[in-house]
Amino acid sequence: MTTDEEDSAAERKMRFLFTLRQQGMTDARVLSAMERIDRGRFVRGIFSDRAYEDMPLPISCGQTISQPSVVALMTQALQVGPRDTVLEIGTGSGYQAAVLSCMARRVYTVERHRRLAQEARQVFAALGLSNIVALAADGSRGLPDQAPFDRILITAAAEDPPGPLLSQMKIGGIMVVPVGQSDAVQSLIRVKRTETGYDYEELRPVRFVPLVEGMAND
Ligand code: SAH
Repeated sequence: MTTDEEDSAAERKMRFLFTLRQQGMTDARVLSAMERIDRGRFVRGIFSDRAYEDMPLPISCGQTISQPSVVALMTQALQVGPRDTVLEIGTGSGYQAAVLSCMARRVYTVERHRRLAQEARQVFAALGLSNIVALAADGSRGLPDQAPFDRILITAAAEDPPGPLLSQMKIGGIMVVPVGQSDAVQSLIRVKRTETGYDYEELRPVRFVPLVEGMAND
């Protein structure tokens, strides 16, 4: 990189973090994870120069990388601790998993498009993020072999929090999931598993691509 390119990269990064703070993101651990993970590595082709704007962008297989302020909000809501094992459903670009990997002991991320899982794995390896396991599988069934999880983040909209995933949470565990019809505005829900059941809390309206059962063909 030339000095000019380094200057503009640093400036972009400052603006990126400033936007997150402006949106009310105050959790220092989330902000430092998002400072560390370069979103530009997860966006390809013609949209890559928009990677530092606070908007969702198209990725392969007709999917989207979430808006950075929504990634920050979901990560904050998940209250991840350094000893936690986290399951993410909907790897997409891999950006959200990379952010989580800075805060957790281990991240399992599951994607129904093999191609996205493969591309995300390559970026994780290039960035040296060795505590992420990226699997091509139908995440609506969860990951029974690795369960139970301390934290579960679903980054696709479900009509209800999926039963198999609720049952793969530890007692005291937290799940964050967008709930609602895929063509409508959904609600971001936080579920806490207690000794006796589940507590639900509505956080804010969001819009995500739908959680689809079964593997995709690509
Ligand atoms: N977290 C992503 C963005 C998610 S977009 C990021 O940081 O870029 C939602 C993703 O969920 C899409 O890639 C979609 O293919 C995936 N998805 C939808 N249903 C799924 C399922 N049943 N199992 C696994 N992945 C699923």
